[in-house]
Amino acid sequence: MAANQPDEITPDTITLGQPNVRTVAGVLIAWNQPVKPEFAHLARNESIQMGHIFTNPIPAEDRLGAPFYSRHNYPGIPRRKMTANEVAAHKKNYEWKAQTTYTNIYNQLLCTYVGWNSTAALVQLDARFRRENQEVLGTARQRDAYLRSIQRDPEATDEMKQATRMWLSMGLDLLNTPHHLFWLYEDLSYYHTKIHRVHDLPPLIYLCLRRNLVMPPRFKYTIFNVVEERAMDVILSAQSNKSVDELQKSYKRKLTNAIDTACESPNTCQCNKLWHMLYAPQPGSTESDAKYMTQNGEGRLDMTDFDISDLRVVIECSDTCGCSSVCPRRCTQRGQTKMLLVRYENEFIDFALRAAEPIRQGEFIVEYNGLVTQADTGIRRDESYDVALNLICPQLVINSSAIGNLSRFMAHGCQPNAALIETHSRVKDEDPLVPRVSVYAMKDIAAGEKVTISYYQEEQLKSKDGYPCKCRPGCTNTLPRYY
Ligand SMILES: [Zn+2]
Ligand SMILES: [Zn+2]
Ligand SMILES: [Zn+2]
Repeated sequence: MAANQPDEITPDTITLGQPNVRTVAGVLIAWNQPVKPEFAHLARNESIQMGHIFTNPIPAEDRLGAPFYSRHNYPGIPRRKMTANEVAAHKKNYEWKAQTTYTNIYNQLLCTYVGWNSTAALVQLDARFRRENQEVLGTARQRDAYLRSIQRDPEATDEMKQATRMWLSMGLDLLNTPHHLFWLYEDLSYYHTKIHRVHDLPPLIYLCLRRNLVMPPRFKYTIFNVVEERAMDVILSAQSNKSVDELQKSYKRKLTNAIDTACESPNTCQCNKLWHMLYAPQPGSTESDAKYMTQNGEGRLDMTDFDISDLRVVIECSDTCGCSSVCPRRCTQRGQTKMLLVRYENEFIDFALRAAEPIRQGEFIVEYNGLVTQADTGIRRDESYDVALNLICPQLVINSSAIGNLSRFMAHGCQPNAALIETHSRVKDEDPLVPRVSVYAMKDIAAGEKVTISYYQEEQLKSKDGYPCKCRPGCTNTLPRYY
């Protein structure tokens, strides 16, 4: 897909042949307020939304008008669709765009199209269709491979196995029920994948392997943080926002460029200097010591002795380091490379994020995106989605309850296989240092496995009046209650 068509999200930085990178998707301005002069350089960037709401920009499709409206009014998902009859009447006028494919009960390839409802799905026998829709077919193949693994899984219930047939053996009943919640899941998969595609990220898939599907939570999708206006003030005045030169002026010791870095350009990499000037424990300090996590030449972090209660930070290269966008120290800037899926699990866990392919220990998985707001006085929100920024900007949190990406679905695990790590990362040194949080694998994660983080500290997992944890079969921990 071309990245620069009108109406699509356009990047502010393009390095030839590399993914487009950006650190902020929007700034929420108070109702009726003009943009402040301090934000002028953001306001000039047309890919950054400024306003009192974040509108969840999904790259535009061709206009498709029709009197069918989905019953599900979901942020960013078009409700208007065409029925089979309307398609028959207008067919010659349009080049229809494939949305996804299924295998039907006769083992034929069945295709749904963007802007059509499910009654207008068509069997596709044409070899040209296969040639021209490699991407759509590839995503459907990955989805089906995962669903077939469920059919073989001894721990999967009969209900789950039965549910895989919605995709693997698509029947007429479902196709003739365009208001079925199944089609909302399919639209979520398609439209959120569309945002990913613009930035060369893998597709994502939403699944619910149940007889009665559960309504997915309503949120706006973003793969870059959206910053609340007052949080942007905090960011711009924070120590972490200063440039290397500015920091060096007030720093007592003279630091040389450290060679001990996996950066492509070790002689000019400024990252270790930033660590010393911003985050390293200062002599005599009684505050808890921050841990510096650095990528190796493959971009992986060393997870031996990793303790989830430690404060830790990853520093990524910027234009002052002199390296290219494929530098091993730019994982969060490049973004997700492993395909992930979101699946409804059960009443206790609700939804969970799962790996669709193996992930190695220490690898970057995904960024935790959301709204950057003030911890104490920020906008009203579900605080269980808050992630603290203890090192980069202690007054701020990232919250993914209303705005976020697929990482908001990560479930709690008492023996987590992933961890959240604060990430000091900006592409250009003059960009605002919007705090970022990355998810890295603490252990090897197999294809199909849940990606879990621990929501609690060790001692909170034994609360006396807590409720039983169901993070995995046989977990004996109890989780704290919040009122
Ligand atoms: Zn570098
Ligand atoms: Zn660097
Ligand atoms: Zn547990």
